[in-house]
Amino acid sequence: MGEWAFVALGSNVGDRAAHLEAGRHKLATLPRTAVLAESTIEETVPIGPVKQGKFLNQMVLLDTEQAPTEILEAAQAAERETGRVREDRWGPRTLDVDIVRFGDRNIRRSDLTVPHPELARRPFWLREHTELLATVNQDGVPAWAQIKPSRQAHIQRVAALVETWAIAMGKSVDERARWTRAAFMHDAVRDAPTEELARWSDRRWDIPKLFHGPAAAMLAAEHGETDRGVLNAIRFHSLGYAGWDDAGRMLYMADYLEPGRTFKRKRSAKLAARVPQDSQGVLIHVVRKRFQWAIEQKRKILPEAAEFWNGVVPASS
Ligand code: ATP
Ligand code: CA
Ligand code: CA
Repeated sequence: MGEWAFVALGSNVGDRAAHLEAGRHKLATLPRTAVLAESTIEETVPIGPVKQGKFLNQMVLLDTEQAPTEILEAAQAAERETGRVREDRWGPRTLDVDIVRFGDRNIRRSDLTVPHPELARRPFWLREHTELLATVNQDGVPAWAQIKPSRQAHIQRVAALVETWAIAMGKSVDERARWTRAAFMHDAVRDAPTEELARWSDRRWDIPKLFHGPAAAMLAAEHGETDRGVLNAIRFHSLGYAGWDDAGRMLYMADYLEPGRTFKRKRSAKLAARVPQDSQGVLIHVVRKRFQWAIEQKRKILPEAAEFWNGVVPASS
């Protein structure tokens, strides 16, 4: 097994789909390289000052033993073979192949910057990166989980989203791992029988729907999780908690904004893409929405949740 490389393809000249295909083929036929996943293809409006046609974009995930410079060389060869003429940056092109991420490497060379500095600012890249991660992240769910397949898919999407944010925000590998652990464990016993959950959970809240967070936190601690921030993220994920660090806040947003939720998909995708630049702004928005919903549903607002609300939402609003 090699390293994971996320590679973005784009085309806005000629037979765009065929050019993407040529790019994928070039990467797939590299020695000691396998394509693990391909994102859906999406059309985007060009960025920058040059007037030009719309792009087709796609991201692929490679497992490769090639060096980043070798991938870059192959990428540029594929660009040339489609007849790309190198002109303006951000101008029209038959094929553009960019390395978005390469394992956990930080590369600062004159001809190669990884992670790609534009990742945090390109909503379609963030979305595609999350989509790829969600399709391959199978093994983060703990062995003690009790979940249906649909729940597992939700958990994978939440984990993929927090991981994407952590990378776009330049967080350390350790910090990123905290967020993903919290995501993988938050709903781990969501489908366990209520009786069982009540036994594991703190009964203080006395609302069966809220048992699974505390229960999962308790089981996580029993199975060796010692990070208080991660445990609190899991424990209070349905409620909110004023004492949270980023693990809790990111999980709270991702749980609400993950792309599998059926409500307000477009709006959620926009908000999710804004997190790397403005996580506090998005958090305020999500907190408001979740509370509005709780009030409409006539849910009991528990003291922990009220304290969280007061800490996040500015007093004037
Ligand atoms: P952007 O990188 O912002 O999407 P672009 O793709 O239009 O802009 P190009 O003209 O295709 O830019 O590439 C300019 C140079 O960028 C390339 O010759 C390459 O050496 C360099 N480069 C630096 N980092 C990367 C990377 N991560 N992936 C691909 N090329 C990179
Ligand atoms: Ca590019
Ligand atoms: Ca490029």
